[in-house]
Amino acid sequence: MKLTPRMGGWIEIVCGPMFSGKTEELIRRLVRAQIAKQKVEIFKPAIDNRYSEGYIVSHNNRKIKSVVISDPHEILAHIDEADVIGVDEAQFFDKSIVEVCRSLANSGKRVVIAGLEKDYMGRPFGPMPELLIEAEFISKVLAICVICGDPANYSQRLSHEGGQVVVGEADKYEARCRTCFDPPHP
Ligand code: ADP
Ligand code: ZN
Repeated sequence: MKLTPRMGGWIEIVCGPMFSGKTEELIRRLVRAQIAKQKVEIFKPAIDNRYSEGYIVSHNNRKIKSVVISDPHEILAHIDEADVIGVDEAQFFDKSIVEVCRSLANSGKRVVIAGLEKDYMGRPFGPMPELLIEAEFISKVLAICVICGDPANYSQRLSHEGGQVVVGEADKYEARCRTCFDPPHP
């Protein structure tokens, strides 16, 4: 019996610590899809308004238009004829993002997700573990440890604020390897 692939949808994830190039890689994949004349829709959570309302922007200033949403179900209302759905900062969504992405992939869409899998304590962040087990493809990217130059898999919070969600950039976080990572003691 010959099995011909049906080419349904799938989920791909780019994960890693802050400054590792997740957004850069997400933008690279989505721009290539646009060049191939695929219809792309991109979403980011309302919480992450760091640079620009209507765009996702990488730390090296590449950007692409996106829709700001607070509830993952809003994605379903915005996708129109999209072939490819991009999601940035997925860790900030509630767990309903998992069901939404699953149903998008089941209906034949390519879903490309970028997200931090670890919080400032090194713990799993939001829905990322469930998204990672749902994904067909996972790319792990790393930054460079600003203390020693080793591969950095952790986001070191520099401020003394508590709480899992403290939105900030190089003013509040830096990339660290496992040896140099020093999680705050509760
Ligand atoms: P992420 O989405 O993972 O936070 P971005 O894609 O927004 O990352 O930004 C990646 C860019 O961040 C790199 O191309 C580089 O210009 C910059 N950068 C800043 N600090 C570091 C670091 N410690 N290691 C690697 N890249 C860094
Ligand atoms: Zn280090």
